[in-house]
Amino acid sequence: MIPFLDLKAQYLSVKDDIDAAIARVLESGQFSLGKEVAAFEEEFAAYCQTQFAIGVNSGTSALHLALLTAGVGAGDQVITVPMTFVGTVAAIRYTGATPVFVDIDPCSYTMDFTKIENAITPQTKVILPVHLYGQMADMDPIMEIARRHSLIVIEDAAQAHGAEYKGRRSGSIGDLGCFSFYPSKNLGAYGEGGMVTTNNPEYEKIIRMLRNWGQVGRCNHVLKGFNYRMDGIQGAILRAKLCRIDEWTETRRRLAASYDLLLAGSGVTISQTLPTRRHVYHIYAIRTPQRDILQQTLRNHDMQAEIHYPAPIHLMQAHDDLGYQSGDFPHSERLAREELSLPLYPELPEEALEQVVECIRNASMEAIHR
Ligand SMILES: *Cc1c(COP(=O)(O)O)cnc(C)c1O
Repeated sequence: MIPFLDLKAQYLSVKDDIDAAIARVLESGQFSLGKEVAAFEEEFAAYCQTQFAIGVNSGTSALHLALLTAGVGAGDQVITVPMTFVGTVAAIRYTGATPVFVDIDPCSYTMDFTKIENAITPQTKVILPVHLYGQMADMDPIMEIARRHSLIVIEDAAQAHGAEYKGRRSGSIGDLGCFSFYPSKNLGAYGEGGMVTTNNPEYEKIIRMLRNWGQVGRCNHVLKGFNYRMDGIQGAILRAKLCRIDEWTETRRRLAASYDLLLAGSGVTISQTLPTRRHVYHIYAIRTPQRDILQQTLRNHDMQAEIHYPAPIHLMQAHDDLGYQSGDFPHSERLAREELSLPLYPELPEEALEQVVECIRNASMEAIHR
């Protein structure tokens, strides 16, 4: 069987460091926040080229706190894309604000900046681009539009640890950046975790308060806060894994380049990386109108491929009260119909990748001859 993801293989490759990190926390008794989380925050901020990083308990919490810190609340609007994980939009709705969608660009699958200005109203507070699959959105024009309209930019970098845009890291270009350490992400905890990055000391102060019950000191509750603290054990584990992320990312990029090369001319559409961006391949996405058949064919050959995502948010039942309809965002809807994510993780053997490609090539030959 060729799995979509193999978290155990990665654990075994760093087992000694992880086991030691967990033991350190068990002995320190600092299970919530504490020294390990503080050290991870410093190391992650340096990794992202930002001044501050604040650890929280999930990527969704990171987005929620970033939005609150940007002053977003009921009656406000936040511009984002419908082609993302549901957590992006859930976080906007927690604040009482309304998500306003703009379509993706059909090449990079990230926010089409040419659609932003038409979506801006007097209620707009934030632009929230998503660095989908590990490639950063087109940040220069997004920042330019935001500055011209006095809007705050929050990057959803949950899939893009270490991705770059013109040499600048994800999470360092917008006013705030949000990361997830869900186990399957490029930097994954052994549980849940998230991080907000920023260069703004005021934002940093507010986020530190909000994640820990709005406290300044003990029991002095200044803001209406949350229990969004990062676990000590996750902080220690993530520190141990952060040392390896560049090596893992390079392996992901090498495997993705192999897929690109071997899939050329196979009939499926491979995704495009724009020249100014360092794609970190959280997902290796292909597109084909025969997506469902291809997924089943791979499954019949014991190979797992997944769909990210089968429905854009504007067509989900949970968010139908926003009033969008099928046809509103054609590029997002097409990606939802045609996208297939192939197995990709640093421990994936090259031979397994070649088997996946061979299966796809055979399947598309059959489709042509049918
Ligand atoms: C994973 C993810 C989130 C949510 O992160 P959690 O840690 O699962 O809460 C948000 N946005 C995107 C784009 C994601 O991929």
